[in-house]
Amino acid sequence: MTSADNPSAQKVAFLGLGHMGGPMAANLVRAGYEVLAFDPVPAAQDQARADGATVVDTAVAAAAEAEIVITMLPNGRIVLDVYGDVLPAAKPGTLFIDCSTIDVADAKKAAEAVVAAGHRALDAPVSGGVGGATAGTLTFMVGGEAADFDAAAAVLDVMGGKVVHCGGAGVGQAAKICNNMMLGISMIGLSEAIVLGEKLGLTHDKFYDVVSTASGQCWSLTTYCPVPGPVPTSPSNNDYQPGFATALMNKDLGLAANALRDNGVDGRFGLLAAEIYEQFNQAAAGKDFSAIVTDIRRRSGQEPGKDTL
Ligand code: NAD
Repeated sequence: MTSADNPSAQKVAFLGLGHMGGPMAANLVRAGYEVLAFDPVPAAQDQARADGATVVDTAVAAAAEAEIVITMLPNGRIVLDVYGDVLPAAKPGTLFIDCSTIDVADAKKAAEAVVAAGHRALDAPVSGGVGGATAGTLTFMVGGEAADFDAAAAVLDVMGGKVVHCGGAGVGQAAKICNNMMLGISMIGLSEAIVLGEKLGLTHDKFYDVVSTASGQCWSLTTYCPVPGPVPTSPSNNDYQPGFATALMNKDLGLAANALRDNGVDGRFGLLAAEIYEQFNQAAAGKDFSAIVTDIRRRSGQEPGKDTL
C-alpha cells in the first residue's frame, strides 16, 4: 500500500511544539502517523518524546524526511526564517502546511517561497485554543490550491473538527483575522454596554435576560459573558483565567490592523479595538480578553462594589 492509499503511512515533520503544536502533534501520533518533531525548547522536546514522536535535532532534519511539513510557530518572521532553512532540504513536492497565525502578507510570501522551491503550500490557521488542540476539534481555515487542500484533508481531519477551504494563498489567514477582529470589537461593545448598564442600575441578570434574546445578542454574551453569573463556564467566573489570553487577542488585532491598512479599508472600529487591546495588554497580557470589561470600568471611574449588580 502506498502513502497515497493510506495517509497515516505518511511521515509528518512537526515544527513548533508549544501550547498548540504539542497536543496537535500528539494527536497525529495517536492516529498512526510517524511524526518527526522539532522545537528548540528542551521541555517541548521531552513532551513530544513522551507522546511518541521522533524528536530530531534540527528543523532541516525533520523536513528532509517528510511528505508533509506542519509549522505551528509564534509569528510570521519565524515562519519565513524556518522556511528559508528547510525548503532547500525538502523532497520535491513536499506539502507545507502553516498553522501559525501570521500576517496575510507574510502568509502569501511564505506560499510563494514554497512554490518557488518546487513544493506545495497551504496556510491553515486554527481557532479552538489549547482545548481544541488537545481534543482534536480545532477549526482549520485553509488557503491554497484545491488539490493541495484535498491532499491535506486526512491530516487536518485528525487535528480538527471542522476544516474549511477558504480560498487561495493567504485567505485562510484572512478568515482568521476577520473573525477575531469581529470578536474583539464585539467584546468591547458588549463590555461598554454592561458598564453603562451598571451605572444606570441595570443588573447583570436582567441585562442578560433581555439582550440574550434581543438584537444585541452575540457569542461574546451568550457563550463567553464577560461578567460572572449568567454563563457559568465563561472565564469571568474564574478570575479571568484564559480562555483566550489578552496577549493573543492583541496579536490577532495587530494582524487585522495591518491588513486593514495594507488594503485601504476604512476599518475604524478594527483599528480602535487594536489600540484598546494593545493598551490593555500592557497590564493584563495573561488575563482572558473578556477582562476588558474591568478596564472599561476603571477608565469610567466606576466605584468599587458597583460591578456586582
Ligand atoms: P507557543 O509559544 O506555546 O509555541 C510556539 C513554539 O514554537 C514554542 O515551543 C517555540 O519554542 C517554538 N519555536 C520557536 N522558534 C522555533 C523554530 N525556529 N523552530 C521550531 N520551533 C520553534 O505558542 P502557541 O500558543 O502554541 O501558538 C502557536 C501559534 O498558534 C501562534 O501563531 C498563535 O498565534 C496561534 N494560535 C494560538 C492559540 C492559543 O490559544 N494558544 C489559538 C489559536 C492560534
